[in-house]
Amino acid sequence: MPEKLTTELYKELKEIFGYDNFREDQEAIIKNILQGKNTFVIMPTGGGKSLCYQLPAIMQEGLAIIISPLIALMKDQVDQLQSRGIKAALLNSTLSQKVINETKQEVLSGNTKMLYVAPETLNKEDNLAFLKQAKLSFIAVDEAHCISDWGHDFRPEYRNIRYVANQQLGRVPIIALTATATPRVQLDILNNLDINDATTFQSSFNRPNLYYEIRYKEEQANKQLIKLIKEQPQIMGIVYCQSRKQVDELAALLNLNDIKAAPYHAGLDANVRVKNQEAFLQKQYNVIVATIAFGMGIDTPDVRFVIHYDMPKSLEAYYQETGRAGRDSLPSTCLMLYNPEDFIRLERLNKSKPNGEREKSKVLLEEMKGYITSGVCRRKQLLYYFGESFADHCNNCDNCKKPTEGYAAQEYLQIVLDAVQQTQGLFETDHIVSVIQGVSNPNIESHQHQQLPIFGQGNKQNESFWRSVIRQALIHDYLTKDIQKNETLQLTKKGQDFLKKKYEINFVKDNIYEPIESNKKTM
Ligand code: ADP
Ligand code: ZN
Repeated sequence: MPEKLTTELYKELKEIFGYDNFREDQEAIIKNILQGKNTFVIMPTGGGKSLCYQLPAIMQEGLAIIISPLIALMKDQVDQLQSRGIKAALLNSTLSQKVINETKQEVLSGNTKMLYVAPETLNKEDNLAFLKQAKLSFIAVDEAHCISDWGHDFRPEYRNIRYVANQQLGRVPIIALTATATPRVQLDILNNLDINDATTFQSSFNRPNLYYEIRYKEEQANKQLIKLIKEQPQIMGIVYCQSRKQVDELAALLNLNDIKAAPYHAGLDANVRVKNQEAFLQKQYNVIVATIAFGMGIDTPDVRFVIHYDMPKSLEAYYQETGRAGRDSLPSTCLMLYNPEDFIRLERLNKSKPNGEREKSKVLLEEMKGYITSGVCRRKQLLYYFGESFADHCNNCDNCKKPTEGYAAQEYLQIVLDAVQQTQGLFETDHIVSVIQGVSNPNIESHQHQQLPIFGQGNKQNESFWRSVIRQALIHDYLTKDIQKNETLQLTKKGQDFLKKKYEINFVKDNIYEPIESNKKTM
């Protein structure tokens, strides 16, 4: 029987989509869905998520509801499916009543295999009343990270999906798909959709062809940028910055310096944006200077470099933005310019955010800073962030090519692990650092941590040193952060074993970002 299913799958894959083989997890995912199980798919952009629900939707009886946040993306998919002879439709408020009625008719006649809807559409009474009459195969939640306010495109309506599914549509299997799942976002998705029993398929997020580097952002950063762009062997790239004003100014400046550049940000007229984007795709421009607004759903294969002129607000955003380079798998460069003042500026901006959001932004920003500062292989760090382990050196990042100084770390590691153990694994990084350094504060006193043997044992080193040791203890799996309990640090098995029997271990010093001149002076 399973063999028959496999043959059938390959036959449909070829006949409908024209492909000979499945990619990585696709086959296993589709089989899981066909068994009626809840399924969680975490796959980088371009990995082939759509096929994972389209094929089982076609093969199963009934209608699959596909929830997607963007009308443009829905329309693309529906057009493609229709051109392949598949009955797919979309439902949204921009359609005329006539078209809506026709679409509903088709669905109820049982012909439609896939109905694409925005989450708002799903929440409407009359749509629900209609969907209740249809026989459903499953609900696919595309871009499922929109459910989490740890993600960057949070959509509150996504939080209502579970309620609608349970209360209104009957318990049909749910398939959640995303390209942006850090462990925190993953947890939000599983909890909010109430699919903790889902089979999870996580593909690797490694992009071996991307080279990662971070450089000190000089005072005359715009000149530095021009020079950097001119140094690139092939000029086809994206420059990301934080403000619209800066986008406009930099684009103008690049043009003055013989680099054909176009601006892109949400403040531009929609038709100007489309025009600039298309001209870039057709290579009339070499560079697009953009705020984060650029890139959603963009799939230009031969972007050779992505430069971050400003520090991104989270590692996740950084990964997604750098991910727009080298879609064709050819070597490409991801370069960030960093000045410690950027961090201070973003930190200040954070202070004006509402409670809740402010704390989250702070955690994300600290993680971003940790990545920038750390001397550990960038790839290892990025993949760690997505819950993936990676060998120690990729040899395709600045930290691997030009390592910072290493040092024997066993004593320091022991201090950190002792501090975590003596505080019962109930405290987060800030608190542990205070304990190690022997800095008392009301929180320390209320727990009487100033009386612990470890209190003040690390007072010879500064705070950033200890943060660096903790980061490396995490990344090398001596510690883990409990994302369900306020980011508290806890010992892993490896950490416990280390405390029982210490052994030699090397860590690396942090990167220092300062002007080249003063570098020279200190050398
Ligand atoms: P995602 O939604 O994960 O970003 P898509 O579903 O848009 O990715 O797929 C990315 C590209 O890969 C599309 O052009 C798609 O046609 C192609 N693709 C998907 N699965 C396969 C496959 N098994 N063989 C070849 N191409 C595939
Ligand atoms: Zn590396």
